[in-house]
Amino acid sequence: MNQKALFIIFGGTGDLAYRKLYPALFNLYEKGYLKEDFAVIGTARRPWSNDHYHEVVMSAIEDAGRDSGRTNDDLPRKFANHFYYQSHNVDDVDHYVALRKLADELDEKYQLEGNRIFYLAMAPRFFGTIAGHLKDQQLLTDGDGFNRLIIEKPFGRDYPSAKELNDSISGSFKEEQIFRIDHYLGKEPIQSIAGLRFGNALFNSLWSKEHIDNIQITLAESLGVEERAGYYETAGAMRDMVQNHIMQIVSLLTMERPDVFDPSHLREKKIEAVENIQMYSKEEVDQNFVRGQYGEDEFKTQLAYRDEEGTDDNSQIETFVAGKLITHNPSLDGVPIYIRTGKRLTKKSTQVNIVFKNNDKNIFSDNPDEKLETNVLTMHIEPDQGFTLEFNTKTGNQGYKLSPVHLRYRKTAAEKARIPDAYEGLIRDALAGDKTNFAHWHEVAQAWKIMDVVRNTWDAETPDFPNYVSGSMGPQAADDLLTRDGREWVFNP
Ligand code: NAD
Repeated sequence: MNQKALFIIFGGTGDLAYRKLYPALFNLYEKGYLKEDFAVIGTARRPWSNDHYHEVVMSAIEDAGRDSGRTNDDLPRKFANHFYYQSHNVDDVDHYVALRKLADELDEKYQLEGNRIFYLAMAPRFFGTIAGHLKDQQLLTDGDGFNRLIIEKPFGRDYPSAKELNDSISGSFKEEQIFRIDHYLGKEPIQSIAGLRFGNALFNSLWSKEHIDNIQITLAESLGVEERAGYYETAGAMRDMVQNHIMQIVSLLTMERPDVFDPSHLREKKIEAVENIQMYSKEEVDQNFVRGQYGEDEFKTQLAYRDEEGTDDNSQIETFVAGKLITHNPSLDGVPIYIRTGKRLTKKSTQVNIVFKNNDKNIFSDNPDEKLETNVLTMHIEPDQGFTLEFNTKTGNQGYKLSPVHLRYRKTAAEKARIPDAYEGLIRDALAGDKTNFAHWHEVAQAWKIMDVVRNTWDAETPDFPNYVSGSMGPQAADDLLTRDGREWVFNP
């Protein structure tokens, strides 16, 4: 079914709009989810004409589609004709009056029934001002149409600033109208975690503290900071990856089973899950969290973080975080979750490893100390997508000796190409009013509170950086975190 709506994109000339939003909207149009009854107003400071805006939108589609071999028919132009540009300074009230007039005209012209999506593709410091003016200047429709607000990360830099940001928009939009994008939640392998856990008797019955020894989450990047130094110097790996993406994955892996798979039940369980992560004292942070910053590689061909363009010579920003979290959700009470993310690591890979317990006596050996290998379920998220299940079986030897084998499933390149881009799926969900894959304020708030304890502890101490070689898997302390518990990282390239 198609959905009628007017999109008002603040930051319409920006990078996010160009690289992600216009191609995603085009895909929805190409697939018929957006038909002729939609319109987009792009706003930003630049004085663009509608004609110029159409050219930009078409070039965004072309740039995004180049690899997929899309034929250059006239669909992009038909699509771009639905776009209108309104030059706008977010602080200027008069501009909201003009915006409202244009919005009302387009609502009438395209018969949009008052459905509006406000997409804030701009820095968060503008969110409160925009949300306030949208309400004061009556851009929010009343009647049967919907008003939805989509916002991007970063959602604050700690709990107090996130709360301030949330308060600044909640005067104009209710929680159910706010769609906070965490693009990891738009990725199919992340969405499939719930299906794997709750749609299979095999895993459903084993997902408990009786059977799971530990959970490991790795978001490893092989690249360095590239051209994002300006942003990264103010954020670091904790704010960039842990508070949002990793904590969302933690809650999907540790939440209790919802009675019904719908957005409200699911989010309720996810909120409980993040609230049941143990809060650490400062001493516990020192024991359970490791930070790092990359130095040169062993052949000195790659720059240390501090020597990259745009970074401070004495930067104390972390490019690596590892930590041990403990869940107190009833089913997994006490199970450790080891998390790890970093730049310039050995290999790019996002994966989750579920390590099962290995308490059974090995009846196949006379030696009581000879343990069987543990069973491990690996969810491959990026760049590979699929699963590996590691289990023991008899191999072709005399007698009865067991060895591990790997049952592998990987999506093919063709299958991966058919999966919609995260933004396409998320915008479609927002159009449908489906909040399954968006973060609730309570999840965001609690994740910040957990991270703030770590951040505050770190900020009081000067780190000894750089402390890992580019191309390695991070500082030694990240391995020690597991070794001291008698464990090791499953992903060890
Ligand atoms: P950008 O700098 O490319 O674009 C910012 C936009 O805001 C531009 O259109 C600019 O004209 C407009 N703008 C700035 N000040 C304005 C003002 N006073 N009045 C009116 N318009 C104004 O930034 P971006 O990369 O598109 O990112 C936008 C937001 O999305 C940021 O908060 C960013 O952190 C977030 N984000 C971006 C990406 C991405 O891939 N680019 C990914 C995730 C999150």
